Amino acid sequence: MAKKKETNLRCDFCGRGNDEVRLLLPGLNGCICDECAERANEIAKEYLQKLQHADSEEIDMDSLPKPSEIHAFLDQYVIGQEKAKKYLSVAVYNHYKRLAQKRDDDGIDIEKSNIIIVGPTGTGKTLLAKTIAKMLKVPFAIVDATVLTEAGYVGEDIESLLTRLLAACDYNVEEAQRGIVFIDEIDKIARKGDNPSITRDVSGEGVQQGLLKLLEGSVVNVPPQGGRKHPEQRMIAIDTKNILFICGGAFEGIERKIAQRLNTHVVGYGAGNRVSKLDREKLLHFVAPQDLRSYGLIPEIIGRLPILTNLEPLDRDALRRILTEPKNSIVKQYHKLLEMDGVALTIDDEVLDFVVDKAIEFKLGARGLRSIFETIMIDVMYQVPASGETTYRLTRDYAAQQLEKSDFELLSQMQ
Ligand code: ADP
Repeated sequence: MAKKKETNLRCDFCGRGNDEVRLLLPGLNGCICDECAERANEIAKEYLQKLQHADSEEIDMDSLPKPSEIHAFLDQYVIGQEKAKKYLSVAVYNHYKRLAQKRDDDGIDIEKSNIIIVGPTGTGKTLLAKTIAKMLKVPFAIVDATVLTEAGYVGEDIESLLTRLLAACDYNVEEAQRGIVFIDEIDKIARKGDNPSITRDVSGEGVQQGLLKLLEGSVVNVPPQGGRKHPEQRMIAIDTKNILFICGGAFEGIERKIAQRLNTHVVGYGAGNRVSKLDREKLLHFVAPQDLRSYGLIPEIIGRLPILTNLEPLDRDALRRILTEPKNSIVKQYHKLLEMDGVALTIDDEVLDFVVDKAIEFKLGARGLRSIFETIMIDVMYQVPASGETTYRLTRDYAAQQLEKSDFELLSQMQ
């Protein structure tokens, strides 16, 4: 038989009597109903989460990876690019030191060290930025500068690049405010032409001005859904002061600007024309802020990207290493895929040389390695799992035949 409810008991939080609620829990000096208990539980959870978050905001210098450790981590995924790795490791480490600094001490403010990486496409700019984010476990977003436009033009508003960052951390504003944004193809928003007064490219410069605001550090209203701003959309305020921006761009043809500059200097000192002797590809090594300026970035933007480094074009040897050495290299991935079917894969060395040769021949660089490999392997991946075999050996002849059969060259040219 159900116990008869005592009628004079009330919830001390909402005041409802025990005949109005499903459950009334008695305490020493009062009662709480099931609904208030549930709400109290939610409030407690929220509060504790906030507390935990406040703790995690304190940066513990001892737990931060040192530049050499960041470099070693990058080595596991990125082949070569030693100069860029060193610059990035130091810049990221300094960024976190900056977050850790106490405001009140000696009046020395460590300034933000946003980074710009110049290098041919497909040489590892995005990979470097992604790997850094993986190591630091901070929110990370990649944005293409070409989709950004000034407010009022067709395209995405500049603020929308922070939308991606917000989405990457489940709209946790505090997390986003210490994240990393990689802006790809920054060279595409350069002003066209050297002379701003004659060949002024208004939209390119406008986008740069907008970007400047973010790089400098300011509070911006971000549309949570991205795209263009809608008046009815609720905005989220984000302070970009502690967001690290890493910009990347191929800056095609910048070698000419570098050569011009170096030439003037060298000739000025009567040392003859040394530049012509420099390998064009090596010129990138000497890239300086004034070259970015001649290329069409406004000086204010350049000033806000104080760490300038470059990536080297990937030579044959680097491409060969990319196939096998990175922690998740293409070759390792195929070994694993087949291993899961109980098949031990062996790949003849000549196959790897062949894949590299083809990537160079078709001018596809590192990106091409994967697509070439995939084309070669498609039939194997299709047939071997059901064949009952326990080993598979990939030979150069088979690889060549597969590539030929697929019209790969034609297909890659059409892409
Ligand atoms: P981009 O310089 O255009 O940003 P990415 O970083 O996107 O080039 O490189 C494209 C792909 O090529 C990467 O996903 C990676 O597989 C490969 N790759 C490029 N450079 C390297 C490198 N230095 N080390 C290892 N893999 C690389």
